[in-house]
Amino acid sequence: MDNKTPEARSLNMKAVTGKNTKPEMFVRSLLHKSGFRFSLHKKGLPGSPDLCMPKYKTVIFINGCFWHQHKGCKKAALPKTNVDFWSEKLGKNLQRDQLQYEELEKMGWRVLVIWGCICQQKNATQILEKVRKFLTGNEKYSEIG
Ligand SMILES: [Zn+2]
Repeated sequence: MDNKTPEARSLNMKAVTGKNTKPEMFVRSLLHKSGFRFSLHKKGLPGSPDLCMPKYKTVIFINGCFWHQHKGCKKAALPKTNVDFWSEKLGKNLQRDQLQYEELEKMGWRVLVIWGCICQQKNATQILEKVRKFLTGNEKYSEIG
């Protein structure tokens, strides 16, 4: 168990889940314009995925690079102070993400992660292509970013 107060924990969760972030809105509008339909923040599924597309048995997470520790991304760099605190906290986030992806896969969902740093207009075509490829393929897990 950690020793954070419930308040601190709930603040932390809010920051981690970060619903309706800018990258998320970008991906939603991009996919919607291209004719894809989905539901949002599906409660009752592990991690309440940002987008859920039952037709393709796919859930999509649009992950912030810092909170979800995008590997090799400069936006994921740890703050220079309180390094132990941050590496422990972010390590826990990573573990939780992994568990949630595994649970989803066990339930028959395929998981696509789109990293926040790629969610920009100049990458729109590339993102769309990769999403389409995932949806029509049969990979269980993939990342874009
Ligand atoms: Zn990134």
